[in-house]
Amino acid sequence: MASKRDYYEVLGLSREASETEIKKAYRRLAREHHPDANPGDHGAEERFKELTEAYEVLSSPEARRAYDTYGHQVPRAGAGTAGPGGDPFGGFQDIFEAFFGDQMGESPFGSFFGGSGGRAPARGGDAEVDVELTLKEAALETEREIKVQIIKECSVCDGVGGTQTRQCGTCGGAGAVRMVRNSFLGQMVSTQACATCGGRGRVIEVVCENCRGGGRVSEVQTRSIRIPAGIEDGMSIRVPGAGHAGARGASSGDLYVRVKVEEDLELMRDGDDLIHRMRINFVEAALGAQAEVPTLEGTSTVRVEPGTQPGTTVVLRGEGMPRLRRRGRGDLKVVVDVMVPTRITGEQRELLERFEAASGEETYKNGGGESFFDRLRSVFR
Ligand SMILES: [Zn+2]
Ligand SMILES: [Zn+2]
Repeated sequence: MASKRDYYEVLGLSREASETEIKKAYRRLAREHHPDANPGDHGAEERFKELTEAYEVLSSPEARRAYDTYGHQVPRAGAGTAGPGGDPFGGFQDIFEAFFGDQMGESPFGSFFGGSGGRAPARGGDAEVDVELTLKEAALETEREIKVQIIKECSVCDGVGGTQTRQCGTCGGAGAVRMVRNSFLGQMVSTQACATCGGRGRVIEVVCENCRGGGRVSEVQTRSIRIPAGIEDGMSIRVPGAGHAGARGASSGDLYVRVKVEEDLELMRDGDDLIHRMRINFVEAALGAQAEVPTLEGTSTVRVEPGTQPGTTVVLRGEGMPRLRRRGRGDLKVVVDVMVPTRITGEQRELLERFEAASGEETYKNGGGESFFDRLRSVFR
């Protein structure tokens, strides 16, 4: 999975940010992190792409709503539509140009967008873990303990990589050096990672044995995850910052908890609704009956009217799945299946023949009105 920070975090905004605020934040940050303003800083290129992607999503009300609901899990429109050989950053460039327009003139952007290699950002990778739930568990807000293998900062050296270090003379311990440069966007002040200490701010004298100087170690973490009621199979819960630790104190990746919801033998899920197939025999269908149906909580009694047809649906309002992050619940739709005898005795045959002799067109008049298939179709809307 792609390593991705929260889009709001990227733009330094709250989830309630207005369209204008999103636009302003992007404009400001895009200038600051523009690769042209940060020559030689490959991190800037990554940050700029990250910013633009965040803006691309949050500036579109539809994409933003999808992101608010599903996080990075939602397949973004257009992601799969770029043909082979298409520039994957074409969209980013469009957005940037919409902002800065003619100012760009013959900018070095083409080369920047075209020539970007797949450099890994210093941010930590995302971690993934699966969790399985029954349908009934998915209907309730649950707390689950999960174990996940995580690369984290070495606790012996605090991620420095050495047990004995001294302050870096080049950057004075700051880990970064400032650069001032003139460009078509005005004077740009940028900071770059210090090459002497690799951005640590300290030079290692004795390498840490615990992490062999890497500053990071792998461990199994146990954490408790709250799973919202109504979650669906295949959805993921994102825990920001709970993924792998980043290099040299860079931010951690996110943890994605992928939810698998087992199919229930009696209750079939259809979005927020549940469907149960209720079998009654042909006598019950003809004479009417009371029947028990399974629900998420236990059972419910359903009244079968005399003359009930196969495919008839009884709707139990509000007995379906809770709506994810919304109020209310879907419905439980009970679809009637009528059993016809397959093995009958001589006596039963006689009774049925007498019944048939006493029946006429009247016996079956207005049998449900619409057809069996129409009734079934209406179950699935
Ligand atoms: Zn260490
Ligand atoms: Zn340094």
